[in-house]
Amino acid sequence: MINLFTPAEIVAKLDEYVIGQDDAKRVLAVAVYNHYKRVKFAQAGESDGVEVKKSNVMMLGPTGSGKTLQVTSLAKILNTTFVVADATAIVASDNVGEEINKMLVKLLDKTNGDVRAAEMGIVFLDEIDKLVTGVNRMKGESIQQIMLKIVEGTIAEVEYKGQTVKMDTNNILFICGGAFVDLPGIIRTRMGERDTILLSDFEILKQVVAEDFATFGMIPEFCGRFPVVVVLEALNRAALKEALVKPKNSLISQYKKMLDVEQVEIEFNEASIDKIAEMAEKLQTGARGLRTICERFMTRIMFDIPNEKNLKRITITPEVVEGTAKPIYFYSVSQSNGELTPLTSLPLRPTSPYTDEGEENGKGY
Ligand code: ADP
Repeated sequence: MINLFTPAEIVAKLDEYVIGQDDAKRVLAVAVYNHYKRVKFAQAGESDGVEVKKSNVMMLGPTGSGKTLQVTSLAKILNTTFVVADATAIVASDNVGEEINKMLVKLLDKTNGDVRAAEMGIVFLDEIDKLVTGVNRMKGESIQQIMLKIVEGTIAEVEYKGQTVKMDTNNILFICGGAFVDLPGIIRTRMGERDTILLSDFEILKQVVAEDFATFGMIPEFCGRFPVVVVLEALNRAALKEALVKPKNSLISQYKKMLDVEQVEIEFNEASIDKIAEMAEKLQTGARGLRTICERFMTRIMFDIPNEKNLKRITITPEVVEGTAKPIYFYSVSQSNGELTPLTSLPLRPTSPYTDEGEENGKGY
């Protein structure tokens, strides 16, 4: 059963998962709300002869700005079937038709073959810009031609578990995502330097028109089937910092959870969070960079932990993040009878597992 929340409710729920991107959240929320309202009318036979056309969504934004995260979160909030397809896989395939069909097969898989439920799902087509960049341009154009009918709405015949299943794609919401790296330049050229020089790529992308997509290489008929355009901005350092700690399921809470299973606490001090955000910003891969930076030191920690007895707490400092120091490991102290002292009743003794015993308190390396 799909949860049909209002756009404001959808945005409020998205806020729990996605940092910033307020404009994008609002546009997406309205688009999705309208889509499912339209589906509801159609199912109730309340069209009064007015047929509301489907509005698929095109999401533009740099890598790691949260395109996939927004759509995934949205599907979770709405409780709708959701699959991701990658346009690079379609363009690389020798059997494009089969690759496109796979999107629908995946929907059926998710609903255990329930065709009606699959017909109300969301398909996120990632890296759509890669269809027409580089050597793919010709092939990408014909792929768009092939997909026209499916994204617009048709009765598709899908091979599923040895049977041919008829699937109506009219109520499937297709959301495309792409970085469209060269698109801001195309828009700037069209609008002229005088009017665009002071604008960021984010502001520029909000001015996109069909002609710009065509210059980029997309075919107009395809883009015409994605009338709602959602633009995401690159996350700045402050947003990256928030993305690290604030969302439900944030990276830090994931690491805490993983270590919790081993009964080890991990603490990132404020300066270390700043450092991770600062280094991630330099990578220019958006919030994706946060994981890249963290994995560098977390891998070693996760390797160590299963072999560590009495390890109770780990502190991450900016130096750990930079790779110039080892994390500080705190062990519970044994009493003379060999029993472990509860963490709460005695100060912890910081030591480093990598250096000699007996180091100064708090330094650890
Ligand atoms: P995109 O699809 O735009 O390339 P993703 O949605 O795959 O980016 O995001 C990559 C990683 O960064 C994910 O782990 C995601 O949770 C995180 N992330 C990206 N944008 C945000 C954001 N705005 N708020 C919180 N986390 C984010």
